[in-house]
Amino acid sequence: MSENITVFRTPEDMRAHSERARSAGSRVALVPTMGALHAGHLSLVDYARAQSDLLVVSIFVNPLQFDRADDLDAYPRTWEADSALCAAHGVDVIYAPTAHAMYPEGFASKVSVAGLVEGLCGAHRPGHFDGVTTVVSKLFNAVRPHLAVFGEKDYQQLKVISRMARDLDMGVEVVGRPTFREADGLAMSSRNVRLSPEERKHALCLRRALDKAQELAGQGHRDAAALKDAAAQEIEQTPGARLEYLEVVDADNLAPLSSLDGPARMALAVWLGSTRLIDNDALN
Ligand code: AMP
Repeated sequence: MSENITVFRTPEDMRAHSERARSAGSRVALVPTMGALHAGHLSLVDYARAQSDLLVVSIFVNPLQFDRADDLDAYPRTWEADSALCAAHGVDVIYAPTAHAMYPEGFASKVSVAGLVEGLCGAHRPGHFDGVTTVVSKLFNAVRPHLAVFGEKDYQQLKVISRMARDLDMGVEVVGRPTFREADGLAMSSRNVRLSPEERKHALCLRRALDKAQELAGQGHRDAAALKDAAAQEIEQTPGARLEYLEVVDADNLAPLSSLDGPARMALAVWLGSTRLIDNDALN
């Protein structure tokens, strides 16, 4: 690991460092992650690096946001590689709190956003977004960033966190960045390593579904049901793929749309064996 990178394990140590930097006039940026860093994470890091004086990457596999114990257990943990990548990309601080420092005995609070969490992933992963908003609030309180960068890959999460930061006057600018993809179009994800070679091939059905919908929208089709049917067919024709949800929503408030008459987004979740993948893209 680079000798220039500092690791903090408790909110108190993290905040003391950040407060000193803020008092000295530094602009602080945070990229929250659960580790197992890939080029998608690094695209956020590179963006944040250019916007900040003190760049903090948090690495914390947050038990509160996992709705299934097997998913939490199987989540990849690659500390050595992650810290080397952070050093190579000019990160100043890794904030990697212990589970005990985050959730000591007696922890009893939660942050919850209404409405936006009801559909899409929220409908299928009970408690997931409360876990996300609670941990991100804690990360914001420890890191005190001016700016926090999130990926559009998790589009609903980005919208929920933006809403939370605004509603609760957190004083953090929440920025969304485009989904970074493999050359063949698969959205990068820490969960992709769990796919068998066969499932990896079949995983392209998510991108194909989005392409189909974008093609139809580009030809002037406005009926959301028709776009959803055409996109769902791409999943249904793929061996081993099971569609969890596929929706066309308002790009801002995530309300389901029946026709495209403003900025819209198609979002879907698909199971390949025991791996759940999500993707989304704009429909204009
Ligand atoms: P995770 O470690 O999966 O919790 O993701 C941490 C951050 O990286 C979140 O803001 C994600 O939306 C973002 N992210 C994950 N995959 C990608 C990707 N392929 N492109 C851009 N951002 C991503």
